[in-house]
Amino acid sequence: MEAVRGRATRGDGPFTRRASDLLGKITGASQVLLTTSCTHALEMSAILLDLQAGDEVIMPSFTFMSTANAYALRGAVPVFVDCRPDTLNVDERMIEAAITDRTRAVVVVHYAGIACAMKEIDELCERYGLALIEDNAHGLGGFYRDRPLGSFGRMAAQSFHETKNVQCGEGGALLLNDVGLASRAEIIREKGTDRSRFFRGQVDKYRWVDIGSSYLPSDVLAAQLTSQLEDFDAIQLRRHAGWSAYHEGLAEWSASNGVLRPVVPDGCEHPAHLYYLLLPDLGNRQEFIRHLAARGVQAAFHYQPLHSAPAGLRFGRVAPGGCPVTEEIADRLVRLPLFADLDEAGVARVIDAVQAYEVI
Ligand SMILES: *Cc1c(COP(=O)(O)O)cnc(C)c1O
Repeated sequence: MEAVRGRATRGDGPFTRRASDLLGKITGASQVLLTTSCTHALEMSAILLDLQAGDEVIMPSFTFMSTANAYALRGAVPVFVDCRPDTLNVDERMIEAAITDRTRAVVVVHYAGIACAMKEIDELCERYGLALIEDNAHGLGGFYRDRPLGSFGRMAAQSFHETKNVQCGEGGALLLNDVGLASRAEIIREKGTDRSRFFRGQVDKYRWVDIGSSYLPSDVLAAQLTSQLEDFDAIQLRRHAGWSAYHEGLAEWSASNGVLRPVVPDGCEHPAHLYYLLLPDLGNRQEFIRHLAARGVQAAFHYQPLHSAPAGLRFGRVAPGGCPVTEEIADRLVRLPLFADLDEAGVARVIDAVQAYEVI
């Protein structure tokens, strides 16, 4: 309301600054640019990398389509690598075989906010001179070896879509850890103009200076985001309570039914973004979702592999070794409801409904 009353409704107003500062504190990013979505932040990263048609960008097949789409839009070729069966993150041992003369970048996604093997991936990127980008849509507030997720890549993209831990309906941010990218990033975000410099009084008129688009969100959305970020610790506490209750409450049931729970490797602190189970097969997964729905519990599957999706086949290619793990786990995965306002009784009801299912 304050944003509307203050007529600060266009972008880059006081709430945009406040939200950006709060995000900088959580992620340690040297510069934060709020965007209209994570998809748009990824598109900005593709422009900033100066990708040319035929350049290759390595990424997991098990991710949201925006991860690939942002680079395909620039004419680059997404190269899809399989995931690890434990964390469902890109399998770091399979990245090197995917590198060619055309490879320019590696995009990691920390699935469920559980970090990828950043030490190995970072070293590989250094060795081959590749840009590391984090699609950190799940990872806000997570850590890898005491370092915040979002601080590893040259750039990282955040999402504030309604389904994320911190949200303003639709929104995102581009985090820059390479300050050399800052002035161009600001131009790309402002329709290819130097309007940000103009507003700071650094130039006397603003002009068209580069390609770009309209990637900045209204300050009204930034106000909603600010209030969420100010509540961040409380939101996280409640999400962790739900996550841990599932994890403990379903330990026995999952062991006796051949169901796998999330694996959190040593050194990873996750932000309780989602809680998932891996059923033994597709038949059980579908039956399990029906079983829960009949008990009033909405559970959902998640990403379908990108390497075999129609646009994945058209614009991308699959890395050597294929993506057999991705194909399998995409059929077996179920997400349980996890919201900040899910109370203890709600979690207990879900656990009861889950435990009433017997794997066939
Ligand atoms: C949600 C999500 C996105 C897209 O976020 P938007 O803000 O809706 O554009 C991209 N990548 C991943 C991994 C996501 O989970």
